[in-house]
Amino acid sequence: MYSVRLWAARHARFFEVIYRIFEPVIVKLHPLWKSVGYQRAEKPVGMLEKLSKGLLFDCKMCGQCILSSTGMSCPMNCPKTMRNGPCGGVRANGNCEVKPEMKCVWVEAWEGSQKMKGGEQIQVVQLPVDHSQKGSSSWLRVARRASDLKQQEYKGDSK
Ligand code: SF4
Repeated sequence: MYSVRLWAARHARFFEVIYRIFEPVIVKLHPLWKSVGYQRAEKPVGMLEKLSKGLLFDCKMCGQCILSSTGMSCPMNCPKTMRNGPCGGVRANGNCEVKPEMKCVWVEAWEGSQKMKGGEQIQVVQLPVDHSQKGSSSWLRVARRASDLKQQEYKGDSK
C-alpha cells in the first residue's frame, strides 16, 4: 500500500483530472442518493470509496476528504494526523520523525501539489478533523453539500 500511495502522489495531476470528472457525476446523482436515502446509500458507497481510495491513497475514511488540497497525499497517514502542514519534526531526508522509514506525508503532499493545476489549494487552512464523521463517505458528503448550496442559492434568488 505504501508504494502505491507514493505512486499516487507522484501522479497527482492524473488523479486531479479524474476527480474533476468524477465529482460532478457524484453531485449529479443527488436525486438517486435522495431517493435511496443518503443514510442507506452510506454503506455501499462508503464500501466502494474505502476500497478504491484505500488501495490508491491508504485512505483512513476520515469522512472529510482533502486529497485535492494535499497533492493527493492523505494527511490521515501522518502519525500525528496533521491537517495543515508538517510538524516540526521532519527529518533532514524528508522522512517522518515518528516513523523514520516513512516519507513525511506533507513532503509527499507538497511534491504532489506542485504537479497539480489546483496545487495552490495546499495553502488553504483546513478545519480540524471532525472525528464524528469517521467511516462516512466523503463522496456523499460532497453531493449533499452541493445540493444544500444549490437550495440555499435558490431560496436566496426567490426572496
Ligand atoms: S483525507 Fe480522509 S477521506 Fe481523504 S483519503 Fe485521507 S482519510 Fe480518506
